[in-house]
Amino acid sequence: MATHTQPCGKAMAVSEEWRQQWIEELMSDCGKQLSEGICEKAVSKIRSNVSYEESAQQLRSLQQTGLLKLTDLKYNPGKFFEAHRLLARHAPNLGPGFWIRFTVHYNLFAGSVLAVGNEQQVKQLEEIQQKGFLGCFGLTEKLAGVNSGGVVNTIAEWDDQTQEFVITSPEVGAQKNWISQGLVGELAVVVADLRVAGKRCGAHAFLMELRDAKGPVPNVEFGDMGRKTVGNDLDNAWIAFHGARVPRHTLLSRYGDVQPGNGGTYVSKVKGLTNMAMIGQRLFSGRVAVAWAALTFTRKLFEMTRAYSDHKKCWIPKNSTLTEVPQLQHLYLRADETLKKLENFVGSCEKQLSDCLQKDEIPPMALQEAIASAKILASETSIDLCFRLKQDVGSHALMGDTGFEQMDFLQACKFAEGDSRILMQKLARDRVRISSPLGSSFLD
Ligand SMILES: Cc1cc2nc3c(=O)[nH]c(=O)nc-3n(C[C@H](O)[C@H](O)[C@H](O)COP(=O)(O)OP(=O)(O)OC[C@H]3O[C@@H](n4cnc5c(N)ncnc54)[C@H](O)[C@@H]3O)c2cc1C
Repeated sequence: MATHTQPCGKAMAVSEEWRQQWIEELMSDCGKQLSEGICEKAVSKIRSNVSYEESAQQLRSLQQTGLLKLTDLKYNPGKFFEAHRLLARHAPNLGPGFWIRFTVHYNLFAGSVLAVGNEQQVKQLEEIQQKGFLGCFGLTEKLAGVNSGGVVNTIAEWDDQTQEFVITSPEVGAQKNWISQGLVGELAVVVADLRVAGKRCGAHAFLMELRDAKGPVPNVEFGDMGRKTVGNDLDNAWIAFHGARVPRHTLLSRYGDVQPGNGGTYVSKVKGLTNMAMIGQRLFSGRVAVAWAALTFTRKLFEMTRAYSDHKKCWIPKNSTLTEVPQLQHLYLRADETLKKLENFVGSCEKQLSDCLQKDEIPPMALQEAIASAKILASETSIDLCFRLKQDVGSHALMGDTGFEQMDFLQACKFAEGDSRILMQKLARDRVRISSPLGSSFLD
């Protein structure tokens, strides 16, 4: 297997100087120069056998270096995707916790502010970064969210008298669920159904404070989702809103706003563009990042396993190495070919999406479909390849620190930013919608 420390396929290039700095920064505390290659050095800084508070502190420090700006998703997407890939290289050692924390903060949280925030709100990101504050993204609910295609049941009711929004989870099913860094984040982008003067205006995003120096803000309740198979350095919370009041400026208002007076009026600012469609952009960049993460994890796990099997003596029937066992030899070849193809495909999606991000455009339908397919293919193929590797490498797969214990990283890739099955249903639905009714051409 080839060692891929550089972006593979058609992924966008970033300067080598920046890559080195990003890696140096990741390793600056350790003072050790490891010989295995630059990516391994990053591992020595980021740890996963720590509490979630300590893990959050690692992300605070990393963002305060300023090496990756919260605005890079829009202005320098190549850097944004490369930073994700470099971190994913460590996932077989670290598990998914830190990678998820990182992408939730940089893509889902900051990315949503970039996508639907007004000029001032986007400017706030600078201060957030300098202060080392962390942000969550609250879309998923117990009975809605990513799986439901963006329908949310959390309500944000405009109160014209106080000029505030009142955020409420009207029932248990509407409570936010699985919210990453929900137990530590100072801020959150919360997606809620906006109601103005009794009218429903659809899902909108609010940039609200979750905690200040004194602790959680009033009328917001938090609970821990509990222990996971992997990634326990990441906190996941359920969040219930009991009439939490947030000021008018918390509505991310580039595309829609509320005009106070006479009960309030909803004003759509850009014809044809809804807030939810632009929030959905984060799912596109997230899907590309997740696709890369799955492929990068798989590459690394295969490399680590190959390093073992190349030296493991085995009788087949003469003394040889485990790598030469036919099924394993074939799997290594097949995995390399498959991964190369997928890396090219995902790289090409990244390039086209980056163009849209920089121009602030919604990706054309064909690209949306390609990105969804890339995410499904990358995670499902990775699960299949790693599972086969586990079956064929023998006892090694049971040992700690081999990377096999972190295979549930791929499970997270499967359901993050749209579960494979749900995405496949969406692709099929979209195709049916655009097709002509059967036989229509004969009736014309
Ligand atoms: C570690 C972690 C971090 C997360 N972080 C965040 C976050 O920061 N912010 C956020 O908003 N969300 C977050 N999520 C939520 C995530 O994006 C998914 O939406 C969520 O995990 C899906 O929930 P579930 O698997 O419990 O879904 P369930 O509704 O229990 O579905 C289980 C499975 O059943 C199938 N299924 C469900 N409904 C249908 C259907 N209608 N048709 C066919 N099949 C169906 C799907 O395969 C689905 O995966 C996170 C989740 C995890 C596990």
